[in-house]
Amino acid sequence: MEDFLVFEGISKSFGSHKVLDNVSLTVKKGEIFSLLGPSGCGKTTLLRICAGLEEPDCGRVILNGEDITRLSPNMRQVNTVFQNYALFPNLNVFENIAFGLRISGVKEKVIKEEVFKYLELIQLTDHAYKRTDKLSGGQKQRVAIARALINKPNVLLLDEPLAALDLKLRQRMLVDLDNIHDEVGITFLYVTHDQSEAMSLSDNIAVLNEGLVEQVGTPAQIYEAPRTSFVAAFIGDTNFFEGDVVDVDEPYSTLHIDGFTDVTVYNDKKIRKGERVYISIRPEKFSVSIQKPELPEKYNIVKGTVKEIIYLGYHTKYWVKVNEYLIETKRLHDRYMLDEKIITWGDEVWLSWHADYCYMLEQYKLEDEALLTLPDEEIMAEIESESEQQE
Ligand code: ATP
Repeated sequence: MEDFLVFEGISKSFGSHKVLDNVSLTVKKGEIFSLLGPSGCGKTTLLRICAGLEEPDCGRVILNGEDITRLSPNMRQVNTVFQNYALFPNLNVFENIAFGLRISGVKEKVIKEEVFKYLELIQLTDHAYKRTDKLSGGQKQRVAIARALINKPNVLLLDEPLAALDLKLRQRMLVDLDNIHDEVGITFLYVTHDQSEAMSLSDNIAVLNEGLVEQVGTPAQIYEAPRTSFVAAFIGDTNFFEGDVVDVDEPYSTLHIDGFTDVTVYNDKKIRKGERVYISIRPEKFSVSIQKPELPEKYNIVKGTVKEIIYLGYHTKYWVKVNEYLIETKRLHDRYMLDEKIITWGDEVWLSWHADYCYMLEQYKLEDEALLTLPDEEIMAEIESESEQQE
């Protein structure tokens, strides 16, 4: 796929606050590309720069080979869908969708054909002549999407379009959005702070934090191979460890992790003996068992005590105390679960995991640990007082 929308070295400040810092991204033609990050990281500002509603202090926006950085919004072939729908309340569904074509002077017959084509796409043909205030939130958002798409923009910008909808409706709308995208094939630039939305919808994701791009990749790359502690903690949950390399046997290394154990890790970063490294291990990568399992080579194993359990239906989270560490693990339930011995509070369990699941980070910041899910404060206090007694 060709490079279609390119942000080149975009920086933007409001007063002394630098909101975007030398952001460069490339969006391919026809893909769904998400800007994902916490509130205030600058994603909406980047979207507004693309729409022409904000000017960058420096850098360029290239769309389909043309520099559009200084072009007025109505001269760019981009349309935006907002969180609050922004429909015209005095116009019915049909007229909302027809609006762009009407002001372009398109013939009535063509308008009718086109509007009904898009009404079918959003599955609201039966609601064509309804007032928009009689629609549900999800229906309003579909009208907003059709109103934007009918102008056949080069890029559809979506600014947190599902944020006002409840969970079930959001999940349905994600499927609808994906189908609409497949049907029209237009490039989508999608802004969200919700990692599951970005993961389920996107071809590629840029993770932003404080105006900087932390990582760009497919959902699987971002989840399985996070580059930084911020990405590892913001996209799902994880466990961080800091260790010293005590042995290198390419492509594996052994880390000594103080207060935990020695761990075999996959090493694609060309690290050497004596170096200090940080790794991330996702909760579901640990196997949790009461019986000590027989393990093939390159597996790590350690014994711990279950301190906290949260049952979530399709999986259960266990926090297991191993020496000085509290490890978050996750166990999926399958149909054999009922026959198994149930793991409960205080049980001694074995945690085992393959060396390939220890992902080495290029950049680690202690403050990112605040993004991790932890058990409730009482349990944490109990664990801390236990550790102090042991010392
Ligand atoms: P959210 O999801 O909360 O909108 P965001 O990642 O989209 O977050 P932006 O809306 O791009 O973030 O805002 C980034 C920062 O820039 C915020 O601190 C915001 O207050 C500030 N900001 C945005 N627009 C302006 C403006 N016009 N004037 C001053 N500050 C602004």
